[in-house]
Amino acid sequence: MDQIFIEGLQVYGYHGVYEQEKNDGQMFLVDCVIETSFAEAVHSDDLSNTVDYGNVCLFIKKYFTEKSYDLLETAAHELATALMYAFPGIQALQLKITKPNAPIPMEFSGVGVMVKKAWHQVAISFGSNMEPRETFLTDAMEQIMAHPDVRRMVVSDYIETKPYGYLDQDDFLNGAAIFETLMSPQQLLTFLQELEQNAGRKREIHWGPRTLDLDILLYDDLRMNTKELIIPHLDMCNRLFVLEPLVQIAPGMVHPVCQRTIYDLYMRLQEQMPVATESFADQEL
Ligand code: ATP
Ligand code: CA
Ligand code: CA
Repeated sequence: MDQIFIEGLQVYGYHGVYEQEKNDGQMFLVDCVIETSFAEAVHSDDLSNTVDYGNVCLFIKKYFTEKSYDLLETAAHELATALMYAFPGIQALQLKITKPNAPIPMEFSGVGVMVKKAWHQVAISFGSNMEPRETFLTDAMEQIMAHPDVRRMVVSDYIETKPYGYLDQDDFLNGAAIFETLMSPQQLLTFLQELEQNAGRKREIHWGPRTLDLDILLYDDLRMNTKELIIPHLDMCNRLFVLEPLVQIAPGMVHPVCQRTIYDLYMRLQEQMPVATESFADQEL
């Protein structure tokens, strides 16, 4: 990714836990590294095709001066999020806020905080086999799309599939979606589980009937293996009901463990030569 940086931007603000800091305010220094793509801008040589750092500076100044937070941690988090919302060209952001005159009775050049934010590329799969199946799926997709920390969502068609694992149950409607999110994997899981709960999901039989199932398949090129969350989803390479809708919307997305595209994984599974996945969980991720 290309980068734009802003260094030592002086902004006046009223942040701090002490009354004097809130009332009189003080000078802060803001440093910022913006990750973006210059591809369009270098082609057109046009300011409207890049992130205008002048506007970013004005935005920071206005936001930082108008709001007041006790903690610099909160101020930095809120400002970084507001920047991500306001400037769609920003793919990732590192924001550092320094208090050169913090009330510390010692010599120092600055104390402060640094936060990072990024729009992460995610793929999920979803399914339902309890009526109204389509309504459960469509409601969930609408709620994901409406989340402020989600953008650029593409949803596949829904496909009718036979049950997997536990066969004595109704047929499923399955699909996949890709989107970008500011949420961490854990935050995303919590959000998706809330949607499952809202749809009245009950966990009675493993792989049994469900109103709504939402699984995280891929999250950037992240590999993680915790008690709560395994990414990439452990069994995705073996499931046609996952790969068939996913290949429709993201054929070129790469599985970070086996380094194959979704198209490749789909073709192999169709030819009944799936890529072995059982060992992913045991690998040191
Ligand atoms: P499968 O994951 O094999 O499709 P399932 O979807 O029926 O099975 P659930 O009962 O929905 O399984 O979820 C069981 C647990 O799986 C969840 O509580 C969650 O913590 C965990 N889990 C691990 N990795 C993931 C992931 N990538 N996406 C969603 N849940 C996950
Ligand atoms: Ca599942
Ligand atoms: Ca699940």
